[in-house]
Amino acid sequence: MEPCCVVVWENWLAETKDRSFAAFLEGPLREFFLSQSVFEATGAWPFGERPHGTAGMLEGYAEVLGVKPEVNIIHAWLAPLAKPILNERRVCPCGSGNSIKDCHGEEIWSLRQRVPTSLARQMQSKLDEASEKDRLNRLQFEDLVDAILQSLYCRRPINLISAASQSALKLGSSPMLLGRGVGLAS
Ligand SMILES: [Zn+2]
Repeated sequence: MEPCCVVVWENWLAETKDRSFAAFLEGPLREFFLSQSVFEATGAWPFGERPHGTAGMLEGYAEVLGVKPEVNIIHAWLAPLAKPILNERRVCPCGSGNSIKDCHGEEIWSLRQRVPTSLARQMQSKLDEASEKDRLNRLQFEDLVDAILQSLYCRRPINLISAASQSALKLGSSPMLLGRGVGLAS
């Protein structure tokens, strides 16, 4: 297995031969603490760079599936793995428009060996969770920008700024910028 700085747990599960707890302690967990301490000491990640958070997860999943690290693509390939019974008449996840049987059937059968149904489902729900988190972050960020623009350029009293923007102001991550924005509103 190719180790990485943030353990993508599903990668390890999909690639390890030994799924015991002891193997987990020896593998991903040990690696995690090791890489954390190396990073703290040297400022560089051992085992190569892998982005954190959602991007890291996408890369990890993409590696297991042998596809591009894009949410839609990964979802498409997880779908036939997450089903207890593979229906080969379904459209192939590669986008060719052919049935799985006439396209990537062989690849999908071999992926199913490595990524059992339960694991594929776990990966699906983690992807969904991450997408939802990203979406909320983006909304919060948009509200924040909106609040700053309103207070800077419209000079609206803060109490007339939309509730969403007000809550964004409270959640804001840039107090300096916010300070200016709110200061101008009178
Ligand atoms: Zn195909």
